Amino acid sequence: MRTLKDQPRVAVIGHGAREHAITWKLSESPLRPQLYAVPGNPGMWELATKVDIPVNQHDALVAWAASEHIDLVVVGPEQPLAEGVVDAFRAAGIPAFGPNQAAAQLEASKAFAKDVMRQAGVPTAQYEVFTDVEQAQSFAKRLGAPVVVKADGLAAGKGVVVAETLEEANAAIADMLEGNRFGSSGHKVVIEEFLRGEEVSLMYFVDGSSVTPMLPARDFKRVGDGDTGPNTGGMGAFAPVPSFLAADWTAFSTRAIVEPTINLLKAQGITYRGVLYAGLMVTADGPKVIEFNARFGDPETQVVLPLLESDLLGIMWAVAHDSLDGIEVHWRDKAAVCVVLAGGEYPARSDAGTPIQLKSTHHPNVCVFHAGTQRQGDQLVTAGGRVLTVSALADDIPSAIDLAYTEIDNAHFNGMQYRRDIARNWQR
Ligand code: AMP
Repeated sequence: MRTLKDQPRVAVIGHGAREHAITWKLSESPLRPQLYAVPGNPGMWELATKVDIPVNQHDALVAWAASEHIDLVVVGPEQPLAEGVVDAFRAAGIPAFGPNQAAAQLEASKAFAKDVMRQAGVPTAQYEVFTDVEQAQSFAKRLGAPVVVKADGLAAGKGVVVAETLEEANAAIADMLEGNRFGSSGHKVVIEEFLRGEEVSLMYFVDGSSVTPMLPARDFKRVGDGDTGPNTGGMGAFAPVPSFLAADWTAFSTRAIVEPTINLLKAQGITYRGVLYAGLMVTADGPKVIEFNARFGDPETQVVLPLLESDLLGIMWAVAHDSLDGIEVHWRDKAAVCVVLAGGEYPARSDAGTPIQLKSTHHPNVCVFHAGTQRQGDQLVTAGGRVLTVSALADDIPSAIDLAYTEIDNAHFNGMQYRRDIARNWQR
């Protein structure tokens, strides 16, 4: 592996709170990187130079990275990964952190992911894949309600219906296959057994062959307190998850889930590099995979990266060069909690142009990550559904909860909503 020189040039692609958290962690590297945000958000622009190139214009991105002598590109969101942006950078000899298009299918196609899991013997919900409405409905009937209906392709986290009744499942199937609700993403559906248990997100650094787990996290997907209301992109998270660590499910997941998946892909000629996110249900029979994502989770990243003691830049460089071996990945013996501040009508509608009052925090263990924000002159304004994430690090989860909620007082905009119960039920 080429040694990473001092002050390398590193570009982060994306504009959410996840990418802000990545950029912040990279900015703490002892290698003092020069950071670029493509395009980033106002929070990221305090740490990185803004680069205004649309992320779907691969040729323009590669030409820019080559002309600026970028040493490493880090791709945050799933869409550019699924569109092959990493293939474009690598073809031009520019090291990139993230899976190539073939490997990113683990997230971009649920049918592909389920087939890989079946072949690799990975524990997951029973399922079948359908393009025909009647066949799909009859399989749902065989499984019985509750049953889960998933659009095959990327649907921004909204392509999953957990149907309580068969009528609901039948309607979702017809809607996806005939109603074109998710466009081409819904032309195939996965019908899946409903799993009961506790959800845990476990992310891994993967360098093509070896895998290194991060700390387990839990996110809170429903918009309202007590897990009520519609699903969202995530309203908060905490890490680590004590019950998961106590049962040593991380070692089980490495051995029974992630290693067999990576090895099966390898046998098919697909090398996986980057972050592999396993969305797990810890059932009475142990962890089973609900979904794979091909990148860092949002908001899990906002609690997992503050707990990382080692240099993220060194890890990413090693991953991009297939050589995690010998790279130490250490974690702080602390806990982190984050709370998402969202627009008043989220998730139905995003917010735009509402002025944000944000006092800077002076607490060393608190980060305010930007998601849907923009600048209008000197004024910070809303520009999305999830607007800011307040993330706090402390000795234990209760202290991190207190710190995060105290720090929320530094932020305000009209209509701002957030959950009051993030991580409060962690002992369940
Ligand atoms: P996904 O986008 O696949 O993570 O699904 C979104 C949410 O739907 C998950 O976080 C779970 O809460 C739920 N879900 C998905 N698949 C299942 C399943 N097989 N059993 C129970 N809940 C599920």
